[in-house]
Order: sequence, then structure tokens, then C-alpha cells
Amino acid sequence: MLKKSGDIYELTSWVQFKNLIHGISTAAIGNLKIGLTRGEDVKVNKHKLGRELGFDANKIIQAQQIHGNKIARVVVEEAGDVMHGVDGLISNEPGIFLMIVVADCLPILAYDPETNAFGAAHAGWKGTLVKIAQELVTSLQREFGSKPENIKIGLGPCIGHCHSEIGPGLVEKFQSANLNKGVLQTASGKYFLDLRALNISQLLDAGIQKQNIDGPIKMCTYESDEFYSYRREALNLTGEFGALIGIKNYG
Ligand SMILES: [Zn+2]
Repeated sequence: MLKKSGDIYELTSWVQFKNLIHGISTAAIGNLKIGLTRGEDVKVNKHKLGRELGFDANKIIQAQQIHGNKIARVVVEEAGDVMHGVDGLISNEPGIFLMIVVADCLPILAYDPETNAFGAAHAGWKGTLVKIAQELVTSLQREFGSKPENIKIGLGPCIGHCHSEIGPGLVEKFQSANLNKGVLQTASGKYFLDLRALNISQLLDAGIQKQNIDGPIKMCTYESDEFYSYRREALNLTGEFGALIGIKNYG
């Protein structure tokens, strides 16, 4: 990732796409999760994001994010809305900006330069168990005819396996879903979940090319004050940061 202005990161390999607006916000932009206000105005923060990335923040579409695997296809008429019951959004319409908010979960952005289709999804441990990353890819295929080998994937920062210890109940869930390769065991018998690795493996299974996946390898939200972290802040969570994608009006 590259720092764009002081408060937002861009994916290094995506800067070449001049029609694309995308970014991962930091805590300097402020909380972007609706309903978690703590005195901060999400609307004001969205406009800060819009100003820095150069788009109209009234055109943001968000997902309710319920830790499932449903993806909604959205259109210009839904600008400003929150789509209920979904954890991912896709579109191919210019002028709308899809945003996922996270604090430890993995934000996944997708862009197909061939069809101009794009999407965003949110993968926590629950979404990973129900394979939302694969759903994102298959939705782009189904709705816009995107070929997986053309789709670029951008991963934002998430909690690293270093700080995502899980209990035996969850270990069992991942084992029975055949996802145990993302569960790491230490010599002392503790278990840690590698969210990033699990989602990358799902994306590769869906036909995404390894060289088309970009995003920070060693950036743990728990360890970085630049990002919100549910595990670090626990009940005092002050916000969630955003991963956003959209296409400018063609003019
Ligand atoms: Zn860590």
C-alpha cells in the first residue's frame, strides 16, 4: 500500500487505473461505521474521505454487514443507501462508491479492468467460514461476465495471526469446514487464525491469479494505531475504518 495524502492508503498496483477511485482510510479520517458514533459524525468523516479521494461522499453505498456471505448488486439510484442483509456490494456503474467498514476483519476490494465491474466485501471469521471471498468473485462472474483471471484483488489490513488467538470451539468449526490450514498451532498449544491466508486461498480457488492480489503482507490492525482494532480497543472501540471502491464518471 502507498500513502495517499496523510490519511488514506492506496494499493500500489492500482494507482495506474486512472478511472478508478479507491482507498483504505486510517483512523485519521475517523469512524465510518454508522451507529457507532461516540460523538463523531460519520457523515462528516465520509465527506473528509470524499474530499481527499476526489469523489462525492453522498454517492457512497454501504453494506449492513451481518457476517454472512450475501453480495448485493447495486445501481446509481441506490447512492447514499445502506444495503441490508449483505456483506458485500458489486456494481459496474460509474459515479457510485462502495464502502466496507472494518476493525480487524479483512476488507476485500475487487476490480475487473476488462468489464469495469468492481466490488467490496467484508470477511471476518464468520464470513470466511461461509466463503464470502469466493462469493465476491462468482458474483462478478455471474452479473458482469468478469473472468476471474482478469479480476484484480486489493486486500486491506486486518488482524494478523499474531493477535488472533481463537478457542477450541472455533478451531473445530474451521476444521469441520476443511479450513484448518488457516489455523496455526503454537508449541504451547494455543491456536491462531490466519484470516488473510484463508481468504487468499479461497480467492485462488475461485480462479484469481496470485499476481493479481495486492495488499500489505505484514500489517496487523491490532499493532497499528493507524487503524481501528476491535481486539485492541474491545468495548471501547472508537471506530471502524473504510475500504472504498468506485469508478469516476466517464465524463
Ligand atoms: Zn499482530
